[in-house]
Amino acid sequence: MTAQQTTVRLPTGEQAPALGQGTWEMGERAKTRNAEIAALKTGVDLGMTVIDTAEMYGEGESEKLIAEALKDRREEIFIVSKVYPHNGSEAGVKAACERSLKRLQTDRIDLYLLHWRGGEDLEGVIGGFETLKAQGKIRHWGVSNFDTEDMVELFSLENGNRCATNQILYNVARRGPEFDLLPWLRERNMPAMAYSPVDHARLPKQSVLNDIAQARGLSAMQIALAWVLQQPQVMAIPKASTLAHVIENAAARDVKLSTEELNLIDTQFKPPKSKRPLEML
Ligand code: NAP
Repeated sequence: MTAQQTTVRLPTGEQAPALGQGTWEMGERAKTRNAEIAALKTGVDLGMTVIDTAEMYGEGESEKLIAEALKDRREEIFIVSKVYPHNGSEAGVKAACERSLKRLQTDRIDLYLLHWRGGEDLEGVIGGFETLKAQGKIRHWGVSNFDTEDMVELFSLENGNRCATNQILYNVARRGPEFDLLPWLRERNMPAMAYSPVDHARLPKQSVLNDIAQARGLSAMQIALAWVLQQPQVMAIPKASTLAHVIENAAARDVKLSTEELNLIDTQFKPPKSKRPLEML
């Protein structure tokens, strides 16, 4: 039994694991390939079955790595991939999806996201996603790096409210989305997917996270990850290419931070008092 929420609820009612694995910067170096494959497999063994990738990551190399590591475990995993905004048209997303399916060596992507806003034809993207869904090539679609006003625009378009998630930069040091974006998503029963949940390993070296970690015999990264998992309807997709980090991250699900610990975290990593534009990595 873990202490944290182990799943989030997609708008369709389907449950998805709250903790997954990112793969940005993986699959790009022959020297680290075997270690990365071992890390991904171990993560799945430990229940981190949401695997996040994108056509952008290593220009497809991350998707190929996932196929190599996990194609014989397809039924166990929930694959998330993303399409570039420059492929953001009805025909563009369909073609990009075919290429991703080929690299992933699978017949379906569980969740397919528009990676960020950048000159796309949003109506065309929705149309393409809906067609791919009807064809069984994707099971859900969503967006990434959409601020609240982008979500409002999305929902004003036909079928825009069929979006399953918004993948955003969110962690203890980047709390802007708490002001309006996370409440907006929760009101619509839509989970957020927190990327860079340990801030791309750039959290301050000394912080209250270390104090809490030391008192519990854990690492500061585990406290940072447990903090994200403790936010309702938030998934987290840490990337770890080393076994030790994967094992640590999986164990963060067993950490439930107390009210005192959460208050202490707020003293250093302050919640937003006003709107902050959504940050992006
Ligand atoms: P992250 O997961 O916050 O941090 C990854 C870094 O933290 C790596 O250097 C990793 O090291 C290290 N790390 C992980 N667990 C650790 C632990 N327990 N102890 C110490 N260090 C640890 O950052 P991210 O990779 O930027 O974000 C995660 C995933 O989100 C990405 O991989 C990608 O799938 C997705 N993402 C999406 C977007 C978007 O625009 N939608 C943007 C950024 C990221 P090792 O690799 O050496 O283990």
